[in-house]
Amino acid sequence: MKIGELLKKGQFSISFEFFPPKTQEGEDELFHTIKNLQELGPTFVSVTYGAGGSTRERTKRVVKRIHEETGLITMAHLTCIAHSKEELLEILREYKEVGIKNILALRGDKPANLQNFKPPEDACTYANQLVSLIRANFGDWFSIGVASYPEGHPESPNMDWEIRYFKKKVESGADFSITQMFFENSYYYKFLELCQEADINIPIIPGIMPITNFRQVQKFASMCGTTIPQRLIEKLEPYADSPEETLKIGVDFAIEQCLDLIENNVPGLHFYTLNKSKATLLVYEGIRTSIRA
Ligand code: FAD
Repeated sequence: MKIGELLKKGQFSISFEFFPPKTQEGEDELFHTIKNLQELGPTFVSVTYGAGGSTRERTKRVVKRIHEETGLITMAHLTCIAHSKEELLEILREYKEVGIKNILALRGDKPANLQNFKPPEDACTYANQLVSLIRANFGDWFSIGVASYPEGHPESPNMDWEIRYFKKKVESGADFSITQMFFENSYYYKFLELCQEADINIPIIPGIMPITNFRQVQKFASMCGTTIPQRLIEKLEPYADSPEETLKIGVDFAIEQCLDLIENNVPGLHFYTLNKSKATLLVYEGIRTSIRA
C-alpha cells in the first residue's frame, strides 16, 4: 500500500522509524522491538539510510526483511548526495522488484568522516532532484515522502527560504512529509500556516522523539536546530544521570505534546524510536484513546 493514498483517505497514521543496526545482535534486538511495536498496528514503519551510502546494503536488507517477515508497510529512506543517478536508480529498481512502494527522498549530509568529499558528477544536489528522478523513472509506483523542518533546516537562512525549497520538493512530486523532531508545537503550527499561505497542501506528519537520554537529545537537537523548551530542560537536567526518571519525564512530555497535536487534527504521528520500544509503547498507551479511528 502507498502511504500517500492512506493519508488521502484521512486514516490517522502511526509510524515508527528505525535505523539499520551494524551487528547481528543489534538486528535481533531491532526485530524484537518491531515485534513489540507491531501490536500497536502501525500504518507504516521506516528505515533510515546513511548519507554517504554507508548503510546501503544494511538498509536494503532490513527494509526487505521487515517487508517480507512482518508484512508491515515499510518505507525506505534514500539519500542522494553521495550517489550517481544510476546508483540511485539501481537501488530503487531493487526495491520495486521486492514490492516496496514507499520512499522517503532525502538529500542527506556530506559524510563528515570523508575529508574532501566530492559528490559524483551527476549527483542530485538537493532532495527535489531525487523526487523528480524517481517520478521520471518510476511514475506513480512509489509514494514519495520528503523531510520538512518546522524550525528551519540549519542551512536555511530564514523561513521564506525554507518554504520556497520545501515547495519545490512538493511540486517535484512528493505526496507527504515527515518533520524533523520538535518539542514546541507552536513551531509546527506556524510552519503549517506558512505552508498553507504558500499553497502547499500535502499531509505533514509531525516527528516525535520521546526523550530517554537527555545528553544525547541535547546533542541531536543542537545538530539539527531543534529547540528544547526551557521548562523541559529544567525538568530533565537534575535527572540527566537517571535513566528511569528521564524516561518518565520524557514520556510524560511526549504524551502531552501528542495529545495537543491530536487535538489539532494532525494527519498522524511519526515516532523516532532509536530501535527501542519501551518509550514509544508508554507514549502510545497515554494517547491511545484519543486517536481517531
Ligand atoms: P533538501 O530538501 O535538499 O534541503 C537541504 C537544504 O538545502 C535546505 O536548507 C533547503 O532549503 C536548501 N535547498 C533545497 N533546494 C535548494 C536549491 N535548489 N537551492 C538552494 N538551496 C536549496 N539523513 C540521513 O542521512 N539519512 C536518513 O535516513 C535521514 N532521514 C531523515 C528523516 C526525516 C523525517 C528528516 C526530517 C531528516 C532525515 N535525515 C536523514 C536528515 C537529512 O538528510 C538532513 O537534514 C539533510 O541535511 C537535508 O536533507 P533534505 O532532504 O531535507 O534536503
